[in-house]
Amino acid sequence: MAKVFCVANQKGGVGKTTTTVNLAAGLAKVGQRVLMIDLDPQGNATMGSGVDKRTLELTVYDVLLESSSIAEARVKAEKCGYDVLGSSRELSGAEVELVTMERREKRLQAAIATVAAEYDFVLIDCPPSLSMLTLNGLCAANGVIVPMQCEYFALEGLTDLVNTIKQVHANLNKDLQIIGLLRVMFDPRITLQQQVSEQLKAHFADKVFNTVIPRNVRLAEAPSYGLPGVVFDPAAKGSVAYVEFAQEMVDRIKA
Ligand code: ADP
Ligand code: MG
Repeated sequence: MAKVFCVANQKGGVGKTTTTVNLAAGLAKVGQRVLMIDLDPQGNATMGSGVDKRTLELTVYDVLLESSSIAEARVKAEKCGYDVLGSSRELSGAEVELVTMERREKRLQAAIATVAAEYDFVLIDCPPSLSMLTLNGLCAANGVIVPMQCEYFALEGLTDLVNTIKQVHANLNKDLQIIGLLRVMFDPRITLQQQVSEQLKAHFADKVFNTVIPRNVRLAEAPSYGLPGVVFDPAAKGSVAYVEFAQEMVDRIKA
């Protein structure tokens, strides 16, 4: 039965999408069956997996409105080794449409349950907000992976996310927990980053993943080729780190 993880942080540009597609590709590489769900109307995780959001007939939007199942709407990311439930711009409308609907925050969870036996991991790329879309992701998940840069204000933003996760845990999804904070875009030459990294470890202990993702331009270049870095340039140090992270996730699930 699949374990379901949200990659979430309400800040934009912190590496959610990069983490989602590279973790998906890394997990596939170490033999895991993976479904990647793009919950961001920007569709970057879809495009970054080599799936053209402009030509997709069915997306996570149709699944949330219950006009399609995941089995019908998913596609294969051929070069990446995982399945994709894509998104496109129309998903931004779902926010409003869902408001008046029943079980509005549980729809993704119900849909995932129908395919959970086919996967080891389901990864959900969340939009940069604590919206109805993110809430659907959190209600469907066993755990949250929080990518963050080791910068001065990194911890401030975390408070809102932690509170939201606590509320969802208390009211909607007893399973939900923060699996871990993932340090991304890390540059060891910057003293401040080292300091913040140490603070994170002191404060959150084993909730901080061992793997650190370095700043690496190959990871930033890969999306323009429609590939995760792990597939685009497997030898790049950022790609190697994401495969290591995938193995760390597999080990944590077993533990
Ligand atoms: P989010 O999904 O949180 O908005 P993205 O994953 O899109 O963040 O990342 C924001 C930008 O930073 C993108 O241009 C991406 O290519 C770049 N980026 C992400 N991680 C790295 C990294 N480890 N090294 C270099 N660039 C990165
Ligand atoms: Mg993103």
